[in-house]
Amino acid sequence: MARTLVADHYQNTSVSEPAEDNQNTSVSEPAEDIHIDQPNNHAMDFEEILKAMKSKTAAIWETGLQRSVEFCKHHNIKTKTLVTDRHVQIKKWVRENMEDTTHAFDVWHVAKGMKKKLFALSKEKDCSDVSPWTKSMVNHLYWTAASSPNLNEDLVLAKWQSISNRILNVHDGHSTLFPSCQHDELEGRERHKRWLKPGSKVYEKLQDIINSKQMTKDIPMLSSGQQTSELEGFHSVDNHFASKMIGFSFHGMLSRQWLAAMHFNENSNRDHAYTQDGKARYRIVYAKYKKGEHTNM
Ligand SMILES: [Zn+2]
Repeated sequence: MARTLVADHYQNTSVSEPAEDNQNTSVSEPAEDIHIDQPNNHAMDFEEILKAMKSKTAAIWETGLQRSVEFCKHHNIKTKTLVTDRHVQIKKWVRENMEDTTHAFDVWHVAKGMKKKLFALSKEKDCSDVSPWTKSMVNHLYWTAASSPNLNEDLVLAKWQSISNRILNVHDGHSTLFPSCQHDELEGRERHKRWLKPGSKVYEKLQDIINSKQMTKDIPMLSSGQQTSELEGFHSVDNHFASKMIGFSFHGMLSRQWLAAMHFNENSNRDHAYTQDGKARYRIVYAKYKKGEHTNM
């Protein structure tokens, strides 16, 4: 098994999640586990793990996380906050093994799970009205997380649950902890949204999603700052060096990961490109999976 050091900065305080394992589609393929250190946006450590027959993805993540935590300890790096996706096995491991570390969930992953549920609901009879609300609900989720650093769990949850009223065009009387919305008067298109009706099938079903046991547990754990987006960025660099379409040997994969990590660390903090008149340049990409939405690059 290999352990590789890929960054030269150790004075940092956070590591991020065990990567979503994108290399384990067939038996005995190497799986990876990468840790991005957020303040410097550098890949700090990655673990190449040989996937044994039938081994579960979560077990690979756990092994990778465990090794990276050992790696940090060995180099006297304190992990103040660990941001991961919300896998139960990882949650349990962190709770049992990293007592001094705050464990937070990446909002993107929680939003992704919620979007899936909303999409499934929109396909049910009489429930298509949920579709125009998907984006607002995702925004509300991000806002709940970003506006709640160090707030107590009940308040964070109350903020999230106020969405139940918002979608009815009700903006106060939410709860004792979070009585009314913090946005200004709604204007223009915001005022003429297709509000849902209380008691309708779609509203009741939506309530089940908003107040589900999983959401109730996940929302207070959302990371208010650091997310795992850099890690997703690393994945695309990684795919460039080690295409998922091709199977590599363990050492072949390891070498490609090294190259990917060096490339990432060299380029991750590059200055933004500007046009001649000084405006920031962006490339807009319409990826298929975004279903018509765009990403700024
Ligand atoms: Zn409101």
